Amino acid sequence: MSERECDVVILGAGPAGEVAAGRLAAGGLEVVIAEQELVGGECSYWACMPSKALLRPAQAVDEARRLPGAAEAVTGTVDAAAVLARRDEIVHDLDDASQLPWLESKGIGLVRGTAVIEGERRVRVGEDLLVARRAVIVATGSAAAMPPIDGLADAKPWGNREATTTKTIPDRLVVLGGGVVGVEMAQAFQSLGAQVTLLEGGPRVLSREEEFAAEQVGDALREAGVDLRTNVKATAVARDGDGGTVTVTLDDGGSVSGDELLVAVGRRLLTSDIGLGALGLEEGKAIPTDLHLCVPGHDWLYAIGDCNGRALLTHQGKYQGRIAADHILGHGNASIVYGGPLSPRVIFTEPQVAAVGYTLAAAQEAGLDVRCVDVGSGANAGGAFYGRNVAFTGVDVAEQIHAATIAIVGDVPLDRLWHAVPSFPTRSEVWLHLMEAYGL
Ligand SMILES: Cc1cc2nc3c(=O)[nH]c(=O)nc-3n(C[C@H](O)[C@H](O)[C@H](O)COP(=O)(O)OP(=O)(O)OC[C@H]3O[C@@H](n4cnc5c(N)ncnc54)[C@H](O)[C@@H]3O)c2cc1C
Repeated sequence: MSERECDVVILGAGPAGEVAAGRLAAGGLEVVIAEQELVGGECSYWACMPSKALLRPAQAVDEARRLPGAAEAVTGTVDAAAVLARRDEIVHDLDDASQLPWLESKGIGLVRGTAVIEGERRVRVGEDLLVARRAVIVATGSAAAMPPIDGLADAKPWGNREATTTKTIPDRLVVLGGGVVGVEMAQAFQSLGAQVTLLEGGPRVLSREEEFAAEQVGDALREAGVDLRTNVKATAVARDGDGGTVTVTLDDGGSVSGDELLVAVGRRLLTSDIGLGALGLEEGKAIPTDLHLCVPGHDWLYAIGDCNGRALLTHQGKYQGRIAADHILGHGNASIVYGGPLSPRVIFTEPQVAAVGYTLAAAQEAGLDVRCVDVGSGANAGGAFYGRNVAFTGVDVAEQIHAATIAIVGDVPLDRLWHAVPSFPTRSEVWLHLMEAYGL
């Protein structure tokens, strides 16, 4: 058994943990990060990066097809094997060796293994005891949640990991859940040759986003050939022998079969079995944090990223990592200014959905005095170069949402925003049209 002292110990080297480690090290502190799997976390190997690698090729082809002149150059279909090979490159064949030089260059220590908090400022990783002089940061992330559906566990369902790292495209894929992961993976697999059935328990996909956006994504999925069924719940699952057909029984009396079943109904926060119970915190739940990401009642303990449940998004986890690091470095006013469910977010389907702040319904529910204006994002000169039939939730709108984020976070009033004139011909002219529609 060995004991090692340092300034800060971090549990988990996903994007949140890594960013915090880098900022703390840049601030002159000695940091040790514990990782039980791969440095880079869920995001790099099984979530954001591979999912976008699976989505992007078909979207690039579709984009060319929409543009007369380029469309004529598209003569074939997407090559699924080449897409999977490129995905493997993006996830470095599930090898984190390329991440290690960065840690070394910053002087950040890495201990491989499962970390458990053993008491105040004390973290055990196997035989190693890490003692933190200043703080411990929990950044353990999340995993796919598996609902208690009869027979599901025995049917070898896919979670996001199996879907994003699959070596073959199944002929038939059933997807349970029409949230972000469900719609992204349904579109990706349909574009790669699978016949996808997407089952959503509510009346529409993407229940947390604007209804018009959800409708456009639902329409796009159906047009691509996805069998999208709403208001339907799975009541039982059974697989026919090892590797055989999987059948999902539905509460409407029907059933649907596939070669694989992807469960995308939410995330399980990895906060169990890491010693939180002994600190009086509830295991398996979001770790409570104040605006400095500090855990109330434990001034030495911080929680950042998915594990605190504030906003399960990589960029928000990294933002929290920067704030926690600054607070530990002694900047007492380092705290979250804008985040949580209002965070900027992008769904990388075609069309993309990019949003920041409240939906109209959520704003009304919160009692805000709101007025809504709608304009088409393709209805400007810049939009014309992206081809025909581009809707507001359109191609590459992900890049446009940051303008709104800046306006919101900077509290920019509309009569001031009016003077931020977008260049011609860019798609940012949508902001001019929005303000015209508002009457400015
Ligand atoms: C399919 C999919 C696609 C997504 N796409 C996007 C996207 O496009 N954009 C976006 O912003 N977000 C996306 N997300 C969400 C994003 O992946 C997460 O918000 C992000 O990974 C959270 O980062 P994190 O550092 O908190 O946790 P993680 O990335 O989960 O990393 C946590 C790390 O901690 C390690 N760990 C856990 N417990 C221990 C322990 N006890 N000891 C040591 N190590 C431990 C884990 O092994 C892991 O490496 C997606 C999620 C999914 C599932």
